[in-house]
Amino acid sequence: MKNPTPNFAKIKATVPVDTALAHYGISLTPHGGRLYAPCPLHNGTNPKAFVLSEDRHAWYCFGDCDRGGSVLDVVAALEDLSLVEAARLISKRHGLSS
Ligand SMILES: [Zn+2]
Repeated sequence: MKNPTPNFAKIKATVPVDTALAHYGISLTPHGGRLYAPCPLHNGTNPKAFVLSEDRHAWYCFGDCDRGGSVLDVVAALEDLSLVEAARLISKRHGLSS
């Protein structure tokens, strides 16, 4: 197959959310074992609205978004891409093969 469906599970397990966000110049602040940032999705100013899970593979926005997800969801939202397109972009950027 020329364009196989990306391996979502592998991407989620391999690329931490903060690693993917570094590409956008978004840095997160550690506090109490977790990482926090102003939410890049709703451009909020609360420095603790956007929180990563302790393993850094999931995120949640407690501000206006009131939603969370994986590295795929956050890159898809930032780039206005489908999940498949986001998966391909992340794989390319971070040197993963499917
Ligand atoms: Zn948000």
